[in-house]
Amino acid sequence: MFDVIIIGAGVIGCATAYELSQFDLNVLLLDKENDVSLGASRANTAIVHGGYDPDPATLMGKYNVKGAKRCIELVDTLDIEFKKSGSLIVALDENDLKTLDKYYNRGLINGVEGMEMLDGEETRRREPNLSKEVIGALWIPESGIINPWEFTIAMAEVAVREGVKLELNQKVVDIEKNSDHYLVKTETDQFQTKYVINAAGVYSDQIHNMVAEPAFKIKPTRGQYFLLDRSAGETVKAVIFPCPTELTKGILVSPTVHENILVGPDAEGISDPEDTSTTREVLDLVAKEARRSVPSLDFRHNIRNYSGIRANSDYNDFFIKISAPNFLDLAAIKSPGLTCAPIIAEEGIKLLAEEGLELNKKDSWDGTRKIVRFKEIPKEERADFIEKNPDYGRIICRCEHITEGEIVAAIRRGLPIHSLDAIKRRAGSGLGRCQGGFCGPRVQEIIARETGISPLDILLNKTGSYILVGQTKNADKEA
Ligand SMILES: Cc1cc2nc3c(=O)[nH]c(=O)nc-3n(C[C@H](O)[C@H](O)[C@H](O)COP(=O)(O)OP(=O)(O)OC[C@H]3O[C@@H](n4cnc5c(N)ncnc54)[C@H](O)[C@@H]3O)c2cc1C
Repeated sequence: MFDVIIIGAGVIGCATAYELSQFDLNVLLLDKENDVSLGASRANTAIVHGGYDPDPATLMGKYNVKGAKRCIELVDTLDIEFKKSGSLIVALDENDLKTLDKYYNRGLINGVEGMEMLDGEETRRREPNLSKEVIGALWIPESGIINPWEFTIAMAEVAVREGVKLELNQKVVDIEKNSDHYLVKTETDQFQTKYVINAAGVYSDQIHNMVAEPAFKIKPTRGQYFLLDRSAGETVKAVIFPCPTELTKGILVSPTVHENILVGPDAEGISDPEDTSTTREVLDLVAKEARRSVPSLDFRHNIRNYSGIRANSDYNDFFIKISAPNFLDLAAIKSPGLTCAPIIAEEGIKLLAEEGLELNKKDSWDGTRKIVRFKEIPKEERADFIEKNPDYGRIICRCEHITEGEIVAAIRRGLPIHSLDAIKRRAGSGLGRCQGGFCGPRVQEIIARETGISPLDILLNKTGSYILVGQTKNADKEA
């Protein structure tokens, strides 16, 4: 019997697994996909938000500033790509200036430090590519951009190394309450546990409804993006937001940790929470809206479009509650959920402790992670490093300068690898201009060699996304 089962290995489930791994507990993390971080925690805007916009009366408002601080600490502890870029919320007219005042005051209540109101001239001095129409801005220094999937994967890697069990391809379909335990049923297995944590993102209402009366309804809301190649140059240094509305933070222009430019997202209610398609119509609107603040954006540098699905809900806040005995909802975690994840995990564990979960610290727990990024090794030290570690002398991804050593290390860090994109998310190969067109087959060979999986079974990304269908010689025979 497990002490705790966490349903959902997004940033919330993985942050909770990470925190729980320091206690003497038997914890199981379940996800329906073939990797962690395949939901909203992969496809989002990647901002550690400063905390100026959530309503102070909500959990989002209460957790944001604390969450951002904890994220920035974890960036060091877990060796995660992050840049403290700061954010500028720009005003294009007098009404926007009034809105900025409102958010400045909200920021003060939420405890945001170091905010400044800038005039148009100062704003453009800092960001020369901004529109001449910009007449002022709110500067939020305590915010930044993170690698969101690396954040999630890193917490899962440490949790698993420290004893948490991870089961992938396990879709929870039912939960049965028995006198002293829950039986969590997946499509193929069933697991007994004393406590259940629901961190199932856009499906968190469905998981909740398996054990409690309906209390909230997820309204999946899609956001579409452009990702511009770094050849677009340093278009902006900080994250550039338009003035927010009560519904959305608006379409922003942001640098990324990989020196690309990210533009988006819109907010579109959809019925299918799996529908991550992008559409020409919406992308045209996203481009038009983004050009209001940064007119020089050149979308010919676009290397990828993608979309993410927000777990917005009719509850309008994070739904963090004990909803049935020993059953914790960490549900409806919309933006700024990435930023708040470490605090949501901590607060959730406190609620479980009040339910009777015993939290005895292990004698030894290592919450840290350190990885090698070859391109960050100073040029004069590289020859020595390669002599000791020859795998780092072979570049596999030329766009991003990712070596075989980094790919092998990613495979050996302990989470199961089923796909090329799993390596992309861990080592960064395939993130660049050719999007894996050249390095893909070589990465496939390395995965096959290191894991023993047949190349035919190595996927592009999610379950069913096969790349190879058979050997060409066999195909000849069949023909
Ligand atoms: C477009 C967009 C932009 C955003 N931008 C930001 C931002 O810049 N900054 C910020 O702080 N936040 C941002 N957010 C919010 C943030 O990304 C989310 O709040 C956060 O990722 C939610 O994490 P999660 O773990 O709850 O959900 P998810 O990452 O979706 O994880 C849920 C997991 O549950 C699994 N699951 C679901 N059902 C089952 C089942 N039945 N059985 C087993 N497993 C199941 C899924 O496979 C998934 O892995 C953004 C979100 C989106 C979509």
